[in-house]
Amino acid sequence: MPAISHPNWTALPRIPEPALPGIDRPVVTLTTAPSLLEGAGFPVRRPFPGREIGFRQADPFLLLDHMGAVEYAPGEPKGAPWHPHRGFETVTYIIDGAMQHRDSQGGGGLISNGSTQWMTAGAGILHDEMPPEELVKTGGLFHGFQLWVNLPSDLKRTPPRYQSLEASQVTLATSARADALLRVIAGDLGGIKGPGITWIPVTVIHASLEPGAQVRLPWPSQWNALAYVLSGSGTVGPSHVLIHEGQGVELGTGDVLSIGASPNPDGSSRTLEILLLGGQPIREPIATYGPFVMNTHDEIVQAFEDYQAGRMGTVPAQTLERRDR
Ligand code: MN
Repeated sequence: MPAISHPNWTALPRIPEPALPGIDRPVVTLTTAPSLLEGAGFPVRRPFPGREIGFRQADPFLLLDHMGAVEYAPGEPKGAPWHPHRGFETVTYIIDGAMQHRDSQGGGGLISNGSTQWMTAGAGILHDEMPPEELVKTGGLFHGFQLWVNLPSDLKRTPPRYQSLEASQVTLATSARADALLRVIAGDLGGIKGPGITWIPVTVIHASLEPGAQVRLPWPSQWNALAYVLSGSGTVGPSHVLIHEGQGVELGTGDVLSIGASPNPDGSSRTLEILLLGGQPIREPIATYGPFVMNTHDEIVQAFEDYQAGRMGTVPAQTLERRDR
């Protein structure tokens, strides 16, 4: 897994364990992410929104798509050609392989090897999310996720913004015993800050736990808390609920997040690769249709009108021919 790492975890800053007594957040919901096809037909596992973890539990997050890990044959990789978004942010993190991104405002770049693209769609933007031509030609390993972060009503029409967060910028820290690598992509974990600038308080962490590691992390009590296993297996919460690849949990109230990695891992991954998400809930009504997430049905109708009238931008002329391939 070539996400950013460090040869000597003990040299990294450590997140001290929360002082006792802390309230260890219990698992309130466990979900096994269903598989579906997204974009032009690439496979994803979507732990939320779903029957178990809905918009209310995920708030301020909207959606998580786990892409792969998949070994593509030549010609097989697919993406999501030009389409609009309004009212939220898309966060794309690629662990293996690469994704070529471009948008109607001239933003974009190659996302690969632990880098992140944090796009605020806000008032409206068009973007194109495609595997690079080399990957289509040769096939190969592809693994990553896309997370949707909601915006409160007063920020849904904020001008679009693009943040390219290179793997080398990701803040690296470890657990108190240096048995877990914590990649802070955005937000704050025990005073350690990630590079991503967020509109509302949100923390996004990709953690790798050594076999047998037991980690306790501070987690603000007013935030929600979600965890999703990218690979490997382990336990979450005070009653050590078993969790494995493709499963996600919603955690209840408290101020500590506890995670353990299986001491004797089987399967492809030696470490537990887990995504930790938390943020300040927005608690506003959600009206959504396809690529738009607003507060009311009228705003969705308006979004379609604005998109069709070109008010969210237009596909750059020099890239139009790519659509016909
Ligand atoms: Mn998109």
